Formats: sequence, structure tokens, C-alpha cells
Amino acid sequence: MIDHIPQRSDLTQRYLYSHDIASPPIISKFFKLADVVMQPENEDDVLRILLYAKEKKIPLIARGSATSGYGGAVPYKGGIVVDFSRMDHFEVDEERKILIAEPGAVWWDIERKLNKLGLSLRVYPTSAPSSTVGGWIGQNGYGVGSLAFGSIAENVEKIRVANFEGIVETRDLRFYAGLHGTTGFVVKAWIKVKDYEDLNAYAFHVDVEEAIKIAYARKHYSALYLTRRYLEMKNMVSGNEIPEKDTLVIVTAEKLDGDEELGEEIWNDRFYPLRIRRAGPGVVAAEVLIDAEKLKAYLNSVEGFGAGTEVWFLKNSLCSVLSFMPVDERDGRSVFKYTFSLKALKEAKKLGGRVYSTGLYFSKESKSFYENFDELLRFKKSIDPENLLNPGKVFPSGSLPIIMGFLEVLS
Ligand SMILES: Cc1cc2nc3c(=O)[nH]c(=O)nc-3n(C[C@H](O)[C@H](O)[C@H](O)COP(=O)(O)OP(=O)(O)OC[C@H]3O[C@@H](n4cnc5c(N)ncnc54)[C@H](O)[C@@H]3O)c2cc1C
Repeated sequence: MIDHIPQRSDLTQRYLYSHDIASPPIISKFFKLADVVMQPENEDDVLRILLYAKEKKIPLIARGSATSGYGGAVPYKGGIVVDFSRMDHFEVDEERKILIAEPGAVWWDIERKLNKLGLSLRVYPTSAPSSTVGGWIGQNGYGVGSLAFGSIAENVEKIRVANFEGIVETRDLRFYAGLHGTTGFVVKAWIKVKDYEDLNAYAFHVDVEEAIKIAYARKHYSALYLTRRYLEMKNMVSGNEIPEKDTLVIVTAEKLDGDEELGEEIWNDRFYPLRIRRAGPGVVAAEVLIDAEKLKAYLNSVEGFGAGTEVWFLKNSLCSVLSFMPVDERDGRSVFKYTFSLKALKEAKKLGGRVYSTGLYFSKESKSFYENFDELLRFKKSIDPENLLNPGKVFPSGSLPIIMGFLEVLS
């Protein structure tokens, strides 16, 4: 083992670090436990872990706060979980409006510091109170602000990455962002930020076609759309009647004539998409990316299954659509409801949509998900021929992709 790097190897810690927020019961039986958890404190520690793993041929799994539900941070084949929580330093170049952050820095800590300087993040995930810079770049997601500014990768100026070849500093994120740490670990990122502005949130009760028109009519900061079923499940709208139509919330520096009280209430609750209060003991989520033109058809199909849905409108007429299906785990038949995410994905694919991310559970989608998949595979083989960097993620291997394919056919 490597001395001087904080590490944990007792069974409880190994167990705790072997799950992410989802870890579905049907398939997590196939996962191994982490052999050990290491917590590097700086770039040199990361390089030493890489050297050790290469010598001993041990898998390495990058982990931020494990808030992703795609299994990327799960040690599917065992190995060393590299927990970046101790590398959480960040600073701000105020003149250039650039945030320089280590991978374990938490988004909301950063936003609070930026606000004091009169600045603000352009984009952040709604898991910002706990998720990290490295984890969001590792997954390359969309979030708050993505209507105006796109994905996190579109807002990164450059990154510093550690892998078996040493350190690479690059502005070309193609081989790293969204690859779940399979080609290297982000050890520093330079991220564009913006001037702070007071934002207002306005609610409108409109159908989906009208919502799309309003969301894309002007350059607003954020726009989200909640179905009636979703509002019902969240017990939102302050005890008022659930509105007849679905609800669009526009977040903007402009003054609009929507319902500001409800808009603010929904906006202030944005960090809790999973806090479904009336739905019973649990929920299964399905998340897809779909073109705005096909949104109505997709919403009709997931509503047919009984799900409530939250839509985030993104740049270039794309929508990120997160649906929740209530599940009572005490009911033995509820196991079938876990296939909801696969059923929803099937519907999305029929309409030209795709899964939101790949990670472990959806590695079988990688060929269509990454436009340059063949190039990525060649790169992966050249820098990690033993497949030690987060094996089983993004690049399909083992039996899980076959099992997932089988479940999709059955669902
Ligand atoms: C309530 C809630 C709201 C959410 N909202 C959003 C949202 O708005 N948008 C969105 O995209 N997602 C969202 N998510 C999913 C998830 O929170 C985000 O993807 C988040 O950015 C993951 O960060 P993390 O620190 O938890 O990373 P983890 O879950 O630990 O890791 C995510 C992936 O990145 C890899 N990784 C971690 N660190 C590094 C590193 N240093 N270098 C390379 N790879 C690394 C991991 O191996 C894994 O594959 C949400 C989740 C929850 C629970």
C-alpha cells in the first residue's frame, strides 16, 4: 500500500464507498466491493496512486460525491476508489472571470464565494449543495443556466488531467469530459463564470407547445417545465389547487407578467427534485435528452406509465427530461417498476432521443451516445491498455451490458 495518503479499508467504509445515489437493487448484486478507498490531498498523491495501480494492475474508480445515478463511481470490478473530497481548493481570477478549482470543490461552496465577489457560476447542477467539479465534468451534464450557456464542458476553458501517461493540460475536452474518469482524472479545471445578476422566477400555466415557444422566445437564463402529475407528487403550490395545466417557470433578469410567488417557490425548491413528498416510500427515475419538437409525444408516453416529469429546456432546442415513478418497495411486485427507466428510454429512442448519460448502467448506449466513439475507444486503448481506469464504464465490458440489453427487451 502507499504510505502517507489517507485511506480506509474497513468493511463499513468499503461498503459505503461502493454505491452511488441509484445502485438499483436488481443489478447491484453484480458489483464487487471497493478493496480500499484512497483520499489524495494533491496532484502528486494522485500520480502515486496511478503508478501503484499500474504496477499492481488494480482498477481505479474516481469519486466525487457519488450523486450521479449512472454507476460511474461504483467499483463494479473492485479496486481502489479514489475519493477526491480532500482536493477541494478553489480560487477565482476576478479579472478574467475564471474559476480555478480542484476536483473535490463543491459547486454551492463555490457559488457562495463567487457571489461575495459580485460573480456567479454560469451553470451548475441541481445537486450543487453536494456535487463536485470533477464529478460534473466526469459526467458532463446540463443544469441550471444550461438554456443560456449549454453543458458544463462548454463552460470549461481548460482542464488538467492525470493518467498513466502523467499530466496533460488541455483545452480539448473531447477525450475527457463525460468519460467518467475512464481516460484520466481531472485534477484541476479552469471554468468561465459571469457577473452576478438578480434573477426573478415566473410561473405560467401553459401546455407544452406554448411552454416551448415562451422558453425559446428570448435568451432567458433558465426554463423548467413541471407536469401536473409532478406537482401533485411533490405536494407543491403551497396547498393551493393544482393548476389545470402544466407549469412553466422562466428564470430571467427581465420583468415578466407571470406568477412570481409560485415561480419563486418552485425555483427555491430546485435542489430537491427527488424530494417527492406524497409518492410513498420510493421513486424510480428516468432521464433522457430529447429534441423540443418531440417533447409532447414523449411526455404523453411517460404520463401513460403514471410518472411525473420535470423538463429543463437547454440551448439548441434540446430538453433534459427527468421523470419519476412512485414505487412502494414493500410491495413484492414493485420490482417490475424498476424497468420504468428502460421503458422510458425505449420511448425516447423511438422519438430520436437518447439516454442522459452512460456511466455503468448505460454503457451499451455509448456507440450512439458519443459521436466519436471509435476514436475514443482507440484513445482509451492507447493510454490504458489494461483497462484499469474505471473499467466497465462508458466502454462496455463484462456481463452487465448484456443483462441491461435483455432487461430493455423485456420492459
Ligand atoms: C438531487 C440531484 C440533482 C441532480 N441534478 C443534476 C443536474 O442538474 N444536472 C446533472 O447533470 N446531473 C445532476 N445530478 C446528477 C449528479 O449530481 C451530477 O452528475 C453531479 O455532477 C455528479 O457529481 P459528483 O461529485 O457526485 O460525482 P460522482 O457521482 O462521484 O461521479 C460522477 C462521475 O464522474 C467521475 N468522476 C468523479 N470525479 C472525477 C474526476 N476528478 N475526474 C474524472 N472523473 C471523475 C466518476 O467516476 C463518475 O463516473 C443530480 C443528482 C441529484 C441526486
